[in-house]
Amino acid sequence: KSVVAIVGRPNVGKSTIFNRLVGERISIVEDTPGVTRDRIYSEAEWLNQKFNLIDTGGIEIGDEPLLIQMRQQAEIAIDEADVIIFIVNGKEGITAADEEVAKMLFKSNKPIVLGVNKMDNPEMRATVYEYYSLGFGEPYPISGAHGLGLGDLLDEVVSHFPKTEEDEKEEDTIYFSLIGRPNVGKSSLVNAILNENRVIVSDIEGTTRDAIDTHLQRDGQNYVITDTAGMRKRGKVYESTEKYSVLRALKAIDRSDVVLVLIDAETGIREQDKKIAGYAHEAGRAIVIVVNKWDTIESNEKAMKEFEIKIRAHFQFLDYAPIVFLSAKTKKRLHTLMPMIQLVSENHSKRIPTNVLNDVIMDALAMNPTPTVKGRRLKVLYATQVAVKPPSFVIFVNDPELMHFSYKRFLENKIRDAFGFEGTPIKIFARRRG
Ligand code: GDP
Repeated sequence: KSVVAIVGRPNVGKSTIFNRLVGERISIVEDTPGVTRDRIYSEAEWLNQKFNLIDTGGIEIGDEPLLIQMRQQAEIAIDEADVIIFIVNGKEGITAADEEVAKMLFKSNKPIVLGVNKMDNPEMRATVYEYYSLGFGEPYPISGAHGLGLGDLLDEVVSHFPKTEEDEKEEDTIYFSLIGRPNVGKSSLVNAILNENRVIVSDIEGTTRDAIDTHLQRDGQNYVITDTAGMRKRGKVYESTEKYSVLRALKAIDRSDVVLVLIDAETGIREQDKKIAGYAHEAGRAIVIVVNKWDTIESNEKAMKEFEIKIRAHFQFLDYAPIVFLSAKTKKRLHTLMPMIQLVSENHSKRIPTNVLNDVIMDALAMNPTPTVKGRRLKVLYATQVAVKPPSFVIFVNDPELMHFSYKRFLENKIRDAFGFEGTPIKIFARRRG
């Protein structure tokens, strides 16, 4: 998916525009209990093209002076985005800070689309030609507050999208990535994996400039580790900020089938770990929880059990994800990782034949009768699998309203018990059939 970043001075209206472009999407995805959400990154869609939108203004970089903050914002946008929307304030004209940022953006050679915000009426829109002087071609007069002019701006943005990454993906190859807060050991584990496995090609640049794919092979299976670029070349000020690490994680998740959620055994589970894991879950990726730095813990069965209990309590929404304990540093138990990635990947793309699925559903119905709501009983007619990655099922019923969350959960568990979907979320939709 292409990434679009919004850059501009404080109060030019970035968040308003972000929320407009994202529409209702944010409230829709907020459905995993216990996962709080940053309003800086969301999926959006225009002309049938889905893309990820970043509000760089939402990435707080401490209390640096304005100009430095803006420079860092621009840097993040240049690093992350395929297309940058540069917003200026049409009521104030071009300021020195605008010019400074414009210079940086200009040098990046990324496509820049200039939005002149707060152009609420026709008289103001007539003055938009002044903004040609910034050197980004046609300035688009918009009003975030009134939702004006955004369509033209988006047409221009979408026209700059590179060809999609999905087109480049190879079949029979497992794409995976590592996510987790700074210092959990992502780079160390990537290096350990590269040392333990046969690396075929390294450092192929994807269509997104900053993403690097490394192809490797083990036991006849091809793998690609995606988006390790940010892990290997580092040292930028903003890399340790919390929201930036979320951003990195989101991008990695987007490109992968399997996501390794890293937890630091030494420092334990933090709120940020939960947030990052929540995104992987919601994106429907296969997940392995990796507890790294296991060498720092006195390692025995009991310690492992205890840590597992903690993880299960904190990550209830990941109850399907297996846990691997290892040390990137000493390589202890590292050999258990690749087989686990392979297993969850197989489950993630598993297809269940309709007749077999329905046998299981009918058994479940016999075991636990369907609920009755206000005198009406849920009737389940049949089920079928409609998608993989993640496995998704449609259950045809007399009335979807009668399908309680708890009954859906019961059916999900029965499907899991029968077919072994370890490591992958599964989705169940109830649909009406008369
Ligand atoms: P990243 O920010 O997630 O990429 O983390 P790094 O890979 O840079 O690791 C952060 C720190 O943790 C470094 O000092 C590593 O040497 C250390 N580290 C990484 N993995 C392990 C491990 O398995 N055991 C121990 N003891 N330290 C580790």
